[in-house]
This record gives sequence, C-alpha cells and structure tokens, in this order.
Amino acid sequence: MTATLTTESPARAARTNRIPVAVLGATGSVGQRFVQLLEAHPWFRLHEVVASERSAGKTYGEAANWRLETLLPDSAAPLRVKALGDDLESKLVFSGLDSSVAGQAEEDYANRGCAVITNSKNHRMDADVPLLLPEINADHLAAIEKQRTHRSGYIVTNSNCSTMGLALAIAPIEKRWGIEQLHVTTMQAVSGAGYNGVASYAILDNVIPYISGEEEKIESEPRKILGKWDGDRFIDAPMRISAQVNRVPTIDGHLMTISLRMRDREFDLDAIREALDSFSGVPQELGLPSAPKKPIHYIDAPDRPQPRLDRDRENGMSVSVGRLRPCPLLDIRMVALVHNTIRGAAGAALLNAELLEARGLL
Ligand code: NAP
Repeated sequence: MTATLTTESPARAARTNRIPVAVLGATGSVGQRFVQLLEAHPWFRLHEVVASERSAGKTYGEAANWRLETLLPDSAAPLRVKALGDDLESKLVFSGLDSSVAGQAEEDYANRGCAVITNSKNHRMDADVPLLLPEINADHLAAIEKQRTHRSGYIVTNSNCSTMGLALAIAPIEKRWGIEQLHVTTMQAVSGAGYNGVASYAILDNVIPYISGEEEKIESEPRKILGKWDGDRFIDAPMRISAQVNRVPTIDGHLMTISLRMRDREFDLDAIREALDSFSGVPQELGLPSAPKKPIHYIDAPDRPQPRLDRDRENGMSVSVGRLRPCPLLDIRMVALVHNTIRGAAGAALLNAELLEARGLL
C-alpha cells in the first residue's frame, strides 16, 4: 500500500494517494475522534464507516450524534454507514467498537485479510497480538508474523486509556532504574465511558469510585507493554501494580497519581526528571505524522498537570507529568495526565498504523 509522497522526505507531508481506511464503531466517542483526526491525515483517507444496525443505511451525518468541538467534516457527512460484517473495500480498518461485539468482528475482518487496528479490550492480551505503544515496544510488531500463520490479516491493539498515560510516564524509569512495585490512583474523565456511559445526574457534583474492569486492565496491560517479545511469546515486565480508579466530572483527560518503588535504589530526582522530559522513541526518530515531538512533557509548576490546561499538549498526543517528589512509603511519586480519546484511543491507533506503514506492514 505504499503511496507517493508529494515532497521528498518529511514523513508528515501529504501523500497524493492516501490509503483508504474504514472505521468500525464510527458513530461512538472514539469513532468520532477517528473521523476528526482522519480529516487532515496526510497518509490515510476515511473511506468507509461502520456501526450498529441502528445506524446502518443512514448517512454518517444523520447517524452520528456529533459531539466534538470541531465541526463534522464535510467529507464524512455523506458517507453511507455500513453494518458490521458487511464487505469492506478498505484493507486498513480502525476499530472503536463496543467491546460486546468487537472481539468477533475484529477477528472476522482480520481473517478476511484486513489489518485491524483496535482500541477495544478484547484482543489486547492475546498471545500473538501486539499491545503496541510505539515509543516503547515497536519490536513487538514481530508477533504479527506468528498471527499470519493462522489468519491472512492481523490485529494490533492499543492499550486502555489510563494504561497509555501510565505506561508512557513510567517507561523511562523502568528502562533505566527498573520498577519493583507501583501504586496508581486515577481520576478519569466522562468521555472514557462513551456518550451513553455515565448519566449527568450520576456524575455532576460527584465522584464514582468504580469503573468496571478498569483496575484489572491497569494492573496487567503495562506489564505486557513494558515486557519483551522473545521471538515466540510475550514475557511480562516483572513489576507489581495496584490500581484504584475513579470517574470524575471532567470531559476529557485522565489524571493519575503514581507512587513507585525502584529496583535500582541509586537514583536522584533530577536524573529522573531529565529522563522523563528527554524521553523519545521510534515514532520521533521516524517523524511519524501523529508523533508528538516529545512523548512526555515534564511540567515544573507545583499545581500541574491539570486536565483542562494540559490535555491538548501536542494535539493531545503527549503525556504531561509533574510533581515528582520523594514518597515516604515507596521511593518516588508523581502526577501524570493523558488525553483519553486522543493519545489514549484514536490518536494512538493512528500512530500504530503509521508505524505499520513505515515498516512496510500495510
Ligand atoms: P461508544 O461511544 O459507546 O461507541 C460504541 C460504538 O460501537 C458506536 O459506534 C456503536 O454504533 C457501535 N456499536 C455498539 N453496538 C454495536 C453492535 N451491536 N454492532 C455494531 N456496532 C455497534 O463507545 P466508545 O467510548 O467510543 O468506546 C469504543 C471502544 O473503545 C470500547 O471498546 C472502549 O472500551 C474503547 N476505548 C474507549 C476509550 C474512551 O476514552 N472512550 C479509550 C480507549 C478505549 P451505534 O452508534 O450505531 O450504536
């Protein structure tokens, strides 16, 4: 699927033949972010939209109850919504499907030869499916070869939205000093539950200290992301994680407080701060279109990061970290923030697809 660049090198430049893509679950919270981010994407072009029987047959403009801060793109409005299971012309398929249907549907499209890049939880922990976070584990893409022994296409997943912020924020620390134990408490925005997820009457003037299944995901996914692919299977990073999650009345941006114990106790806070702020990976080296210049921004102000002020840093693709200080129980503690529907969902999936294209896997 390699297309021609209009200018010689910069990866961010627009291509003349953008790759046609389909979005499954295009009417949802994550699906709308896909549609928004694809409008000006230099490599990919929205070609097909898929949703439930409730939406199928309508135009996207009619079916999507558009809720984002930018206008519904003119190019998306007239697209006819397809039903799940319909044949697709696109070989690159993004998924923001509800997890009740995502597992089977994504497998079906992968078996039909599509590259399926998904946000849903269903295949994240599969033995041969990369849980990809390109700044950390681009080498996990090697697992695709194993998938191709039993399906003609493949599935690549991104993590849970809170995991994304956590894994990025701790990656430089794990890499240099190692992490033995970690405790995280999240304060998660309402957009993370989808449009129909939490009634306004339940969340306004309130905090809900429970999100079904979330703590288990945050306790397992970072270990796969930060672990190794040994050529045949994934080996989890050996850290122990304890997570407590809360739904809070912000619209976008998951904030989390993190305390951790290091393996190598010879550390100083300045070195950790520098390791965080200078962290960089394969997307930055390749200059992928959605890659932030800095995956992590360390903010010195004592009362940051904050969801409203910091979630849109680098178009929502950077994680903000602050308040690094000693922890009287473990070793260090800090605060991190991730934009849950951009870096934590649709933006992450686009970055994953860009890496696949750059590696010749599309
Ligand atoms: P959402 O707003 O509820 O959207 C769900 C989408 O799935 C809609 O397009 C819906 O289509 C479609 N759908 C539902 N039931 C279907 C069925 N039976 N057949 C076909 N399509 C069906 O949910 P969301 O928040 O965007 O989340 C989507 C996925 O991404 C979930 O698996 C979620 O866990 C994951 N995720 C979400 C976030 C986040 O921050 N929101 C972050 C990371 C991952 P209709 O409109 O036609 O019903």
